[in-house]
Amino acid sequence: METILSIHNLTKKFGYLTAVRDLSFTIEKGNVYGILGPNGSGKSTTLGIVLNVVNKTSGDFDWFEGKVSTHNALKKVGAIIERPNFYPYLSAEKNLELVCKIKGVPHEKILEKLEVVGLADRKDSKFRTYSLGMKQRLAIASALLNDPEILILDEPTNGLDPQGIHQIRQLIKQIAADGTTILLASHLLDEVEKVCSHVVVLRKGEKLYSGRVDEMIASHGFFELKCSEQQRA
Ligand code: ADP
Ligand code: MG
Repeated sequence: METILSIHNLTKKFGYLTAVRDLSFTIEKGNVYGILGPNGSGKSTTLGIVLNVVNKTSGDFDWFEGKVSTHNALKKVGAIIERPNFYPYLSAEKNLELVCKIKGVPHEKILEKLEVVGLADRKDSKFRTYSLGMKQRLAIASALLNDPEILILDEPTNGLDPQGIHQIRQLIKQIAADGTTILLASHLLDEVEKVCSHVVVLRKGEKLYSGRVDEMIASHGFFELKCSEQQRA
């Protein structure tokens, strides 16, 4: 088994607040991982740390078994952390051309990735005419341009309508089936259940569970988790 990312005893404090506490987990190639927890449980902070945009307080993480520096490792990572901005009056294709130039990726990749996300027939439409779901699919195409080993998605279906949510989830599963490892953060148990093979459950920065999603569902604790989620909804 090939390890993509391992996190050891990671802690992040913002002043008196401990956003992530002593968190450890490992991401193996080929699986779809979810970080599941309510708002404020430390999901985005954890992603920010491994993406080198948030400084950790203590602990460690290794990309690709520590064989490459974090800087070089991140060249093999695709990530969508916020709703990315594209030029509204440029076509999808033109917007991706710009990303290709910045990333040093050949232009041939544009059509290939637009096909992956199902937007090839809309490549000439201006970004502003896209639905939210299409905008998110374009963001995914953009993150895939450099053929990353792992795709990281923070709340990938937030704000989308039911059809958009379904399409994004199907797309994530398809990308995973094509061989890209996935790490997504979500506050929705439903999303993790539908999309992920493995899960790390966080509450207030602490790990409550990590393991296979099917085993979590079969376990006793899952019932309580589901009830608490339904109460919140
Ligand atoms: P999630 O993504 O699970 O909603 P976050 O990782 O965004 O959670 O936040 C975890 C906790 O850390 C929250 O209480 C949040 O308010 C706090 N937090 C996140 N970023 C900062 C920051 N830059 N400064 C202070 N507190 C922060
Ligand atoms: Mg978040």
